Amino acid sequence: MKKRAADEWLPATQAIHVGYNADDAKSAAVMPPLVLSSTFRQASPGEAQSEFSYSRVSNPNRAALESNVAALEQAAQGFAFASGCAAASSILQSLPAGSHVIAGEDIYGGTYRLLEDVFASNQHIELSWVDLSDTKALHQAFRSNTKLLWLESPSNPLLRIHSIADVAAIAHQHAAQLVVDNTFATPVLQQPLTLGADVVMHSTTKYLNGHSDVIGGIVLTSDDVWAERLRFAQKAIGAVPSPFDCYLALRGIKTLFVRMKQHCTNAETIAQWLNNHAQVKRVHYPGLSTHDKSSKALAQMTHPGAMLSFVLKGSAAQCVRFAQATRLFTLAESLGGVESLIAHPATMTHASVPIERRKRLGIDDNLLRLSVGIEAVDDLIADLAQAFAAACLS
Ligand code: PLP
Repeated sequence: MKKRAADEWLPATQAIHVGYNADDAKSAAVMPPLVLSSTFRQASPGEAQSEFSYSRVSNPNRAALESNVAALEQAAQGFAFASGCAAASSILQSLPAGSHVIAGEDIYGGTYRLLEDVFASNQHIELSWVDLSDTKALHQAFRSNTKLLWLESPSNPLLRIHSIADVAAIAHQHAAQLVVDNTFATPVLQQPLTLGADVVMHSTTKYLNGHSDVIGGIVLTSDDVWAERLRFAQKAIGAVPSPFDCYLALRGIKTLFVRMKQHCTNAETIAQWLNNHAQVKRVHYPGLSTHDKSSKALAQMTHPGAMLSFVLKGSAAQCVRFAQATRLFTLAESLGGVESLIAHPATMTHASVPIERRKRLGIDDNLLRLSVGIEAVDDLIADLAQAFAAACLS
C-alpha cells in the first residue's frame, strides 16, 4: 500500500503523528527525545550543522510542537511562545508603531489588559473596542491605519459566537487582517484560517496541553509576512517556551480529540441541567436554543464546546459561597484541563476589566464560569447540586 503523506491524514491522526516520527531519532525512540541543549554545534563559523543553532531561535521539541499545531489549524507555519499572553504580545509587537487595532469587546481579561494597558497606553498602537455583532459600528471603526482586527469566538466569559467568515471579509474589505484567538474552540471544533482569518493564536496552557501543567502559547499562519515577523519575534524578543513545556504540550495534544469529545458531551449535559434549574437566571452556552448567535456563526463549529457560564438568582455573596462549595469543580483560574474548574470572572479572569465596562458587557457579580472536565458527568452534577444547597439556593 502506498504510504500516505502526513497532510493526507485525518486531523485525529495528525494530532498523534505530525511533528515527530521514530525515524527522526538515532535511538528510534517512539516518543520524541527531550532536547534540553541550549546550543547546537556548527559545521563552520556561522554555518549550522543541523537545522538548529540556538534554542531561543529554534529547538527540536519546539519545532515538533509547531508543526503539529500548524497541521491541525491547516496553517503553513507555527510559532510557539512562552504563554498565550507572550503569543499575543509578539503579534502586537510585530505591528508597525502607530497601527490601529480593533478588538471585539468580549474578550479574555488578560488580552484586554495587554491591548489597553500595555500596547495602547505606551502608544505602540491606537485601539478601538467594538461590539462585533454590530456590523455598522464595525465598518465605522476602521481608519486608514487599521492593520488588525482581534476576535475571540467563542468569547470569554460570555461564549458569544461571531461569524469568522463575515468578520474576516469586513477586515479584508478595509485592507486589514484578522487574528482569531481559538483557545476556547481548539482546532478540533473550528479552524479559523479555513474561514478567512489571517492569523490564529492559542493559549496552549488550556485545551491543547489539557492537563493544567504547562503555560504556553502558539501562533499559526499561512501568511509569509506574518511568518517572518513571528520568527523574528521569537529570535529577537525571545518570549519562547522551554523544550520540556513543548514536549508536554505535544504529549497533551495526542489525546486532544478524545478529550474534546468527552468535554463537549459533559458540557452539553451540564448546560441543560443548569438551564432547567430554578435558581439559575441565565446560562451562556452556544448549544442552547436560548443563546444569542446566528446559525451561520454556530455552523462554523463542529460542536458548541465545553465552556459555559451562568448567572445565579441569589446575591453576590451566595454566588461566592457557591464557588467555594464545589468540590470536584476546583475554584481556580484557567480552563481546558481534564479536571473541572469554576471561576468568578468579575474577581478573577476579568478583574482587570474596569467595573463599568464589565457591567455593560454582562460580566456581573453573579456570573460563574465553568470549564467542564472529563470526569463522570453524574458526579459533576451531584457536585453542583450540593453547591446550590450549600449556598442556600436549592
Ligand atoms: N486567550 C484566552 C482565551 C485565555 O483564556 C487566556 C488565558 O486564560 C489567554 C489567551 C492567555 O493565555 P496564558 O494564560 O497562557 O498567557
